[in-house]
Amino acid sequence: MPGFEIIDDQEKRAVAEVFDRDGVLFRTGFDERRSHVFKVREFELAFAQRFGAGFAHAVSSGTAAVKVALKALGVRPGDEVITQCFTFVATVEAILECGAIPICTEINRTLNMDPDDLAKKITSRTKAIVPVHMLGASVPMAEVLEVALAKGIPVIEDAAQACGGRYRGRHLGTLGAAGAYSFDFGKALTTGEGGMVVTDDEQVYLRARAYSDHGHESHPTVPRGEDTRSAPGFNYRMMELQGAIGLVQLSKLEGAIKRQKENKARIKAALRQIASIRFRDFADEDGETGDTLVFFLESPQATAQVARELLAAGVRFRILPEALKWHYAGTWDHMLTGIEQYRGRPLNQEWKRSDALLRSAIAIPIFIKMDDAKVEWTIDRLARALRRF
Ligand SMILES: *Cc1c(COP(=O)(O)O)cnc(C)c1O
Repeated sequence: MPGFEIIDDQEKRAVAEVFDRDGVLFRTGFDERRSHVFKVREFELAFAQRFGAGFAHAVSSGTAAVKVALKALGVRPGDEVITQCFTFVATVEAILECGAIPICTEINRTLNMDPDDLAKKITSRTKAIVPVHMLGASVPMAEVLEVALAKGIPVIEDAAQACGGRYRGRHLGTLGAAGAYSFDFGKALTTGEGGMVVTDDEQVYLRARAYSDHGHESHPTVPRGEDTRSAPGFNYRMMELQGAIGLVQLSKLEGAIKRQKENKARIKAALRQIASIRFRDFADEDGETGDTLVFFLESPQATAQVARELLAAGVRFRILPEALKWHYAGTWDHMLTGIEQYRGRPLNQEWKRSDALLRSAIAIPIFIKMDDAKVEWTIDRLARALRRF
């Protein structure tokens, strides 16, 4: 599942090399002392090239990446930003941080943004759309982009959970006006903490870079102390150790996804006979990262019972059902009740279709390192728990 599974001596050596070059930990400056080696910059260039993006800018977290992308695309206080009701709280936190109003759509059986509901929720105040590629698999992007383009609204992909995934051959995160990735410890590519913003638009890139560095425009001919600026910013910078680790992790991503997909295919094939479950739908199954196996049971009651049995048998989940309250807007009284659009409305009634889908779903993490015994064990436990339904 996550890149932490495959951290080894390569990452350790990459960090040691930064210290061997006099330990310059800041992403810019000290050119002589660091022997002109810039690890965050190298990571950005390698990332952009690997993903087919025009520009990549590294930041301190995935949450920061979403916020920086929103800011770079001009989201301002009072604007509405549409995302989906099934996402990590971070997406909505980033929208709120811009002073904007989060509006959440229903999801469909891909567990991602429902394009029909998106079309209904667009208003004259909608400034950006943030589809989220949850659990390694793409949003129905052709449909979402069609709705967005018709209205001229920019799309920012939250690809935090789908780094390395694709949609119709193109990398998730590179299909809209900007994309955001997370490198936290649970993600496919990890630097401990970290994130990336990608875009093909140089102006968006330059605004993102300046915003995440106190407004510094990194003017090439003046020292940092005399740097130019044209808008206020904040500090969301990435440090050199993260850049060094990120480069190593990036080189491992393709192999990790390949192994996950092999492990997942074996488990999924073995469960095909079980009539009581229905697998998640995909907008592009070939392009998914294979880090999660999701299936639906016929009712929330049956799902709760199967989940209890699986837990007792030692099987662990990924988000569904155990961390639903961190990933579903229908439970976010702490964030949404102050917002005019949701005030006085019971949140658990707001996304009825999604609520039923999410409460009928079980998500099993698929690991990069699963030997035959672990694959067989997982199949056996799932088959036993599901047999009686
Ligand atoms: C992890 C995650 C983020 C935030 O990333 P951090 O690096 O933890 O800040 C944003 N969106 C989604 C969908 C995530 O899963």
